[in-house]
Amino acid sequence: MENKPINHFETFNLSPELMRGLAKLNFQTPSPVQEAAIAPMLQRQDVLVQAPTGTGKTAAFGIPILENIDATNRHIQTVILCPTRELAVQVATVLKQLAAFMPSIRILALYGGEPIYRQITALKRRPQIIVATPGRLMDHMKRRTTRFGEVNCIVLDEADRMLDMGFRDDIKAILQSLPEQRQTVLFSATVSEEIKHIAEAYQTDAQQIHIQQEALTVDSVKQYYAEIPRPSKLPALLHLLDDQNFDLCLVFVATKSMADTLAQQLTAAGHPAEAIHGDLHQSQRNRVMQRYRSGKIGLLVATDVAARGIDVDGIDAVINYDIPGDPDSYVHRIGRTGRADRSGLAYTFVDSKERGKLQNIITSTKAEILPASGLFGKFAIPEGYGANKKPAKRRTQRGPRNQKRVGRSG
Ligand code: ADP
Ligand code: MG
Repeated sequence: MENKPINHFETFNLSPELMRGLAKLNFQTPSPVQEAAIAPMLQRQDVLVQAPTGTGKTAAFGIPILENIDATNRHIQTVILCPTRELAVQVATVLKQLAAFMPSIRILALYGGEPIYRQITALKRRPQIIVATPGRLMDHMKRRTTRFGEVNCIVLDEADRMLDMGFRDDIKAILQSLPEQRQTVLFSATVSEEIKHIAEAYQTDAQQIHIQQEALTVDSVKQYYAEIPRPSKLPALLHLLDDQNFDLCLVFVATKSMADTLAQQLTAAGHPAEAIHGDLHQSQRNRVMQRYRSGKIGLLVATDVAARGIDVDGIDAVINYDIPGDPDSYVHRIGRTGRADRSGLAYTFVDSKERGKLQNIITSTKAEILPASGLFGKFAIPEGYGANKKPAKRRTQRGPRNQKRVGRSG
């Protein structure tokens, strides 16, 4: 008998082409949110999905969308809205990977920062799926470069964050410009009152899906905080980086200028770093992301907005150099590590005035955030941490990490 690996997506009766795409991505077992959302979405039901970050929401809507597209119809059939350019690019990339064996399906990302004429040209190639940021899609609507007459599905990805970012009116305008006979799907890490209002106003008999988790944050991320007076943050960060020798690390700061400053300071101190924030041109942001994704730079200093939705494989640690302003953004930030089946680490620096914010985060996320005992470098690294990581893509000048770690902790 042939020993074909079992693919548990088979129960959804997907097309062979899509199954090949899944196999190529090595997706064999649906994650819980995929298990729950794919079937109703295939039936073109409205759904409101709440699931923590890193649980596979992209494929949860991507798979049924691809399956439901009429490949012979060359009009826009599905619109996916994402809060940031990076996320739009990322979602489009995942869809293209899933659709690798569906040559008649075209997917186009529309986002600000890229010349609009280039997108207008791309629209003439008649994509059936548009992945867009709300602002840029509004631009296209005003220029009448997009036609929505045949749209039968809209997905709001990271709906909570789009509202936080002030896209409320754009989202409503977009929803109102679509045919009424359509599927409306909301994905969100958190479901606020406002999300519920949007759901009530724009969905019909929506199925509600809650992927429960004791804590809002992912269990696979070990979380620590350390009380550090502001002037000591830089030395503390350097100490931590020296000590842990992370391959890929993401550092969050509060402002764009802080991101630039800290990236320079880290580079000067022998830890090459780059900054990503909303003031960079899209081409610069793409280049930075490309270097980080490929491991050419190991350290990225980011603001919340720019780092939204970043799904880079194998981020070892997220460091909140500045504590996030609210619990939601804490959840989103640390969700950049510990993705899929990997483990990750998160560190949050607080000065004595920020204790209240930390307490607020702990209370509302129910996250277990442990005090980092004593000095940096004395963090307890969980036994076996890193065991399920891919081997390091590149070595640092300071030698292999294991050797270093043993040397330090001895
Ligand atoms: P979310 O949008 O919920 O934050 P993503 O869709 O970005 O999560 O997925 C998180 C990670 O999990 C990605 O690296 C993705 O490739 C991986 N992933 C998603 N679904 C599966 C699956 N069924 N099997 C294996 N890996 C998966
Ligand atoms: Mg997502």
